[in-house]
Amino acid sequence: MEAICEAIQAIQARIEAAARRAGRNPEDIRLVAVSKRMAWPRLLAAASCGQLLFGENYVQEAATKIPRPPASALEARMQYHLIGHLQSNKAGLAAQLFDCIETIDRLKLARALDSQLARLGKVMPVLIQVNIGGEGQKSGVLCGDARRLAEEIATLPRLRLRGLMTIPPYADDPELTRPFFRQMRQLLEELAGLGLFAGDQPPELSMGMSADFEAAVEEGATLVRVGTAIFGERS
Ligand SMILES: *Cc1c(COP(=O)(O)O)cnc(C)c1O
Repeated sequence: MEAICEAIQAIQARIEAAARRAGRNPEDIRLVAVSKRMAWPRLLAAASCGQLLFGENYVQEAATKIPRPPASALEARMQYHLIGHLQSNKAGLAAQLFDCIETIDRLKLARALDSQLARLGKVMPVLIQVNIGGEGQKSGVLCGDARRLAEEIATLPRLRLRGLMTIPPYADDPELTRPFFRQMRQLLEELAGLGLFAGDQPPELSMGMSADFEAAVEEGATLVRVGTAIFGERS
């Protein structure tokens, strides 16, 4: 438990330093603790160190792991973002479990989620996942298709489009990833200029993982998704 607290503090310090290097306010960046394949007590340990925002990849895993209803005041304050691929037939369960879905990448999914949210009487903040490297097997809309999907999502009453998310092509060196982060920032600004994001707050840009979150912060990330650097290697 102490090791988790120390790891979280160390990452927060690195986020803060990266923000300052870029002339940004560190408070504009939130750490998403990626807890896929981590048992529930590990999440609780992180929460007791003040890390209340988590990222989960699989709807089914989240459904079996997260106690419902929350069993304590601390648990009630924990929030969950879905950061993995979502199948349309799991939209109903995802709508119940998550506070934000970061991986909307097609209209069919957006529509399915919207109608499930209507049944639940809920509204959901969502991000569009962008396949910024244009990689064949990867989820996400291509950069050139993001605007149209954003326009379509804007017509769905239960979805609040709050920004963009990406997993750039894998690289050993974060400097090779930086141009993709920069392109994401440009795309975000382009869509923001068209008034496609909901809410009064600046739009969200979810990018950066254990190996490259500092470069992501320097390039404008508002959500960084860090797993192994907090919880250690996944089994
Ligand atoms: C697993 C995962 C992460 C975290 O990766 P680490 O390298 O463990 O920090 C971030 N984002 C997504 C979408 C993931 O699947």
